[in-house]
Amino acid sequence: MKKKKMININRLTNHLQELAVIGKTKDGGINRFSYTDEEKCANEQLEQYMKAAGLSVEYDAIGNLIGSTKREEGLPVILIGSHIDTVPNGEKYDGSLGVLTAIEVIHSLKENNIRLKHPLKVIAFKDEEGTRFGYGMIGSRAVAGTLTEEDLKRKDQKGISIEQAINQHGFNKDRLQSAKLENVKCYMEVHIEQGKVLEHQNAAVGCVTGITGPVWLQFTLSGLAEHAGATPMDQRQDALVGASLIIAEAEKIAKEYPSAVATVGQLSIKPNGVNVIPGEVTWTFDIRDIDEDIRDQVERRIKQFSEMIAAERRLGLEVLELQRVAPLRCDQNIQEVIKDCIRKINEPVISLPSGAGHDGMQFKDLFPVGMIFVRSKDGISHNPKEFSSEQDIEKAAKVLYQSILKLDSDK
Ligand SMILES: [Zn+2]
Repeated sequence: MKKKKMININRLTNHLQELAVIGKTKDGGINRFSYTDEEKCANEQLEQYMKAAGLSVEYDAIGNLIGSTKREEGLPVILIGSHIDTVPNGEKYDGSLGVLTAIEVIHSLKENNIRLKHPLKVIAFKDEEGTRFGYGMIGSRAVAGTLTEEDLKRKDQKGISIEQAINQHGFNKDRLQSAKLENVKCYMEVHIEQGKVLEHQNAAVGCVTGITGPVWLQFTLSGLAEHAGATPMDQRQDALVGASLIIAEAEKIAKEYPSAVATVGQLSIKPNGVNVIPGEVTWTFDIRDIDEDIRDQVERRIKQFSEMIAAERRLGLEVLELQRVAPLRCDQNIQEVIKDCIRKINEPVISLPSGAGHDGMQFKDLFPVGMIFVRSKDGISHNPKEFSSEQDIEKAAKVLYQSILKLDSDK
């Protein structure tokens, strides 16, 4: 008898194409936001793929779509997933690839008559991107049991709350607690890299070491808005010059650590006049590392330097914390399994942290997490130009397939 292939790449790419049509925009991207008709339609499509793969299909209380293999008593579940919502004018790989690869792996296992000891669940998480409500990872928070009643009060731009959206779509927010998944052995996800590391290393796939957690800070420096012509240089309290020194130093500090990043993405100047010395400057810092101690050290050093500059230049300094998310370290054992499987398909073994956030970070301290990255062309993502090749996708699917087999046989 002819041996079946490990992965049916044609089926997987067809599914990617079919799903990409749902929510297609005039600009060539995809709009698929949570609790919309487009998202519902995409989920119904996924249901078909899941059923064909032999999975039984259900939605949990907030609308996560879950496909399950038959349950053997007692053994914990191997959970595999990602999300199918997009950013505005997003693309077909971010998220969708992870859900479809998971379904493909289970479909292929079935075709190859391989029965696993552990039950498998594929999950399409609700709203990872946070596009609609400005609050991401709604589905994975619910699965982690950390989504609160307070969270559900957040509203979209039309004033519809998450709670209302849940109920409008036929789910039941009163059963929120039932969405928490217990008895999970591990969580696995395939996702596009959204950066250029794998491309630069000539590698199709990568093993993720961890997901960096951001600290978002808002800095305000206040000085004196005075006449640009009439105020001598040695008598100024120029908030922008102070801010510039701090921002330049933050770059130097972050560069001292291999995986730390610090970014100023927003800046505003008051009064913002050509002939007025800037009296007040407000800007944000996004600081990340996979190591929480290093991230906090970078943050501390930037703050200390800022205090010094403020004192030297007679400026007022105010620092507001906007957000603080703990980084996640991917499980060491799962990383070894993934790297082994990458070696087996004769690909270079590259380990890399994820600078972007993913659903897996919600499972910190709950169960082990592993992630496989697929090379992104030019590192582009959240953009219609996003692209990962069929060959790379096939390799990632094979790595997931083999990893699941290995994890299933682990004690
Ligand atoms: Zn994503």
